[in-house]
Amino acid sequence: MSFKADSPTVKNVVPSPNHDERTARIDILLLHYTGMQSAQEALDRLTDKAAKVSSHYFVDEDGRIDQLVPEARRAWHAGEASWKGAVDINARSIGIEIVNPGHQYGYRDFPNAQIDAVIALCRDIVARRHIRRERVLAHSDVAPTRKDDPGERFPWARLAAAGVGLLVEPAPLSPGRTLSANDKGPDVEQLQKQLARFGFGIEVSRFYDDKTRAVVTAFQRHFRPDRVDGLADVSTRETLTKLLGKGTH
Ligand SMILES: [Zn+2]
Repeated sequence: MSFKADSPTVKNVVPSPNHDERTARIDILLLHYTGMQSAQEALDRLTDKAAKVSSHYFVDEDGRIDQLVPEARRAWHAGEASWKGAVDINARSIGIEIVNPGHQYGYRDFPNAQIDAVIALCRDIVARRHIRRERVLAHSDVAPTRKDDPGERFPWARLAAAGVGLLVEPAPLSPGRTLSANDKGPDVEQLQKQLARFGFGIEVSRFYDDKTRAVVTAFQRHFRPDRVDGLADVSTRETLTKLLGKGTH
């Protein structure tokens, strides 16, 4: 059923049947890439009743924006996820799918026209919905063991320069102690506590397990994209500390 677009940036309304009632107030803006071979294939899937997935918005590589689900409704894009202890991320978020084949089908840079459109859409949403800067998130932030999107090529710095999302200048890569797989002890505990305080769903076990590595990888994709390896080097830890000092964590 068609509906009126929520944002003046929308070109076409392409209704998806995949949504239900919201059960929480909107306070997260969640960004994805489509991760499929073509834009049309992704749009078909997001509007297919049988697929049971959707998003509120869809941004093509040429910058055209479609709206698939009204913001007032709960779209189905996050899956099993968590942030700051909340688990029903679909209930409290607006989801934007950004066309890119993704890591599986030939990950490539996001064209400028597409990013300009994403910025315009995000600015409109965060202003209307009063979403805080530190709650503009990647799918990989809220589902680090399952998801890689929108990935390390996504230009978060361009968005931040336009007032969308919270970012700090990453601490430079430098020598020093790197925490890695199977390390244990107080340094790992401190890292896990900081990641949890930032918002990631991570257990403080004092042990650098697979989950910790996945969370560090997600952190790097978003906040320190120069090296994405899941190892907590000095630069990664310093960047995290800087971020914690900047937001309202
Ligand atoms: Zn996603």
